[in-house]
Amino acid sequence: MSKVAVVTGGTRGIGEAISLALKALGYTVAANYAGNEEKARAFTEKTGIATFKWDVGDHQACLDGCAQVAEQLGPIDIVVNNAGITRDGVLARMSFDDWNDVMRINLGGCFNMAKATFGGMRERGWGRFVNIGSVNGQAGQYGQVNYAAAKSGIHGFTKALAQEGAKFGITVNAIAPGYVDTDMVAAVPAAVLEKIVAKIPVGRLGHASEIARGVAFLCGEEAAFITGSTLSINGGQHMY
Ligand code: NDP
Repeated sequence: MSKVAVVTGGTRGIGEAISLALKALGYTVAANYAGNEEKARAFTEKTGIATFKWDVGDHQACLDGCAQVAEQLGPIDIVVNNAGITRDGVLARMSFDDWNDVMRINLGGCFNMAKATFGGMRERGWGRFVNIGSVNGQAGQYGQVNYAAAKSGIHGFTKALAQEGAKFGITVNAIAPGYVDTDMVAAVPAAVLEKIVAKIPVGRLGHASEIARGVAFLCGEEAAFITGSTLSINGGQHMY
């Protein structure tokens, strides 16, 4: 039986590319999403991948959503914590809700998904978590104290959970993407984006498929000796 992978935020952007890459490798994929029904419907029509709607920032919704995936597709072997949002602004203009929404969804989502799935992986002696961090969690970014804190937290979460999973065949790794050409980056003003791209050593935005390839590698059997690591896929930006 093929392994079952849940990709949070798996219906568009980087998550869509991850869902497709894992399906191409023969995994049974469940793509979670938050509420963009039109996109989710089009995604399933195009790919044949099942979609499941829940808010990863809602603890009980994650428990219920993962139970539903397991009932329909089988026990969950792989979790890709990809769902994320931005609510950018300098501290003076950032509201508590801007802070809290980003922490709740981007970082809290990882905890909620782990609580829903880690126990089963442990019982079966095999599991994979790949958590999508960010170069801005490594280096910080003006106007993103919420996002940088949440993404930096993901890197700590990854190393801590990796230590708990290691003796049970569960690996936990992170990927730190740089700027990738998705809807999230389309929201960045053109003048700001131009300055950002000028600072990327390879001189361009990344493509979602380039992040997906890294995720697929970390999910594989051949990556069994890699845990607690962060793979930087950002055109060299993490060095600056
Ligand atoms: P997009 O905005 O293009 O897509 C976000 C996805 O996450 C959508 O599928 C969305 O669902 C889902 N989502 C959002 N909130 C929730 C929630 N509360 N519960 C469940 N699903 C949710 O994002 P990207 O593809 O650009 O980014 C993917 C990940 O990569 C994020 O974690 C982001 O922080 C990270 N990243 C992105 C970079 C970039 O340059 N794009 C750079 C570095 C990191 P729906 O369609 O229903 O709204």
